[in-house]
Amino acid sequence: MAGQTEKDMAETVNTYETPAPKPLLWIIVPCYNEQEVLPVTAPLFREELEKMISAGKVSRKSRILFVNDGSADSTWEIIQELARKDETFLGICQSRNRGHQNAVLAGLMEAREHCDITISIDCDGQDDVSAMERMVDAYLSGAEVVYGVRSSRKSDSFFKRITARSFYRLMNVLGAEVVYDHADYRLVSSRVLQEFADFHEVNLFLRGMIPLVGFPSASVSYERQERMAGSSHYPLRKMLQLAFDGITSLSVKPINMIAGLGGIISLIGFLGVLWAIIQAVRGATVAGWASIICIVCFLGGIQLLSIGVIGEYIGKIYLESKHRPRYIISERTWEPYERHYKG
Ligand code: UDP
Ligand code: MG
Repeated sequence: MAGQTEKDMAETVNTYETPAPKPLLWIIVPCYNEQEVLPVTAPLFREELEKMISAGKVSRKSRILFVNDGSADSTWEIIQELARKDETFLGICQSRNRGHQNAVLAGLMEAREHCDITISIDCDGQDDVSAMERMVDAYLSGAEVVYGVRSSRKSDSFFKRITARSFYRLMNVLGAEVVYDHADYRLVSSRVLQEFADFHEVNLFLRGMIPLVGFPSASVSYERQERMAGSSHYPLRKMLQLAFDGITSLSVKPINMIAGLGGIISLIGFLGVLWAIIQAVRGATVAGWASIICIVCFLGGIQLLSIGVIGEYIGKIYLESKHRPRYIISERTWEPYERHYKG
């Protein structure tokens, strides 16, 4: 063709032949002492990923990233073996056991540069893998975060059901917004992860922090199964710790409550002082009673109020020390957002 260089022609042919780009998915799987369950579930994840690739929903370059959270058994060796046999499997290893939340974060931060979307899932087969495809569908229709929500708690004991329900209620009352019955099975786009990287806190409660980033979100419900092998690493003590961490790392409402209580007790204390004085003037008391009551009421109120005021300042320091971004811009009129897939 006259006037057209070879490069131009090559580009024309290329544009013509390139199939529609597809999002590149990394599945993030935290593993801690999971040597019994990993050989069972790794092929399941692989199969599900292959299904999504064949259906043309995600790029063929998609990967499964295992995060070994300082396991003491042969989990890391199993991961290395998987990676040797199949390039779809990748693994990173933490220097020591840091806990589930940190393991997921390590995986997400590792993945964000390489992929367009991540799905975090437990490695014990409790989360239904077939929900992944529905998560990707939701992403393709515009959501940047897709929460996996349990449709029922049939597989849980009565005790676990009651404690879990109270946990979500308490979290919401105390001002930490969490999606009901959502654990750590979710799709997060790399766009959200880029912003999330600016959340610098050390106390992690991912399920409460991701909603703070914003962007359009959706949920997908799934049936949670029994663990396929091995045993849970979340005994009651760790669950309570997670709940406590969740509340204190997301909200300063408990401090406000102490301050409020201080105010109320001070008021009651003031009334108590008045009452004690009146009783003393009427001569209806033994010597010394009124002064003791006055001191008790006065000090009780003042102390709690002071703790509340100091707490308010500590709360401010706590929020400042997180160095969270003060705003996140999702789009500009002169820079409309478009998805460019890395695959
Ligand atoms: N896990 C982890 N580090 C830990 C504890 C757990 O990476 O210190 C992983 C574990 O391998 C699993 C997921 O976190 O993939 C959820 O743990 P588990 O199944 O024991 O918790 P449960 O489902 O009973 O709440
Ligand atoms: Mg589990």
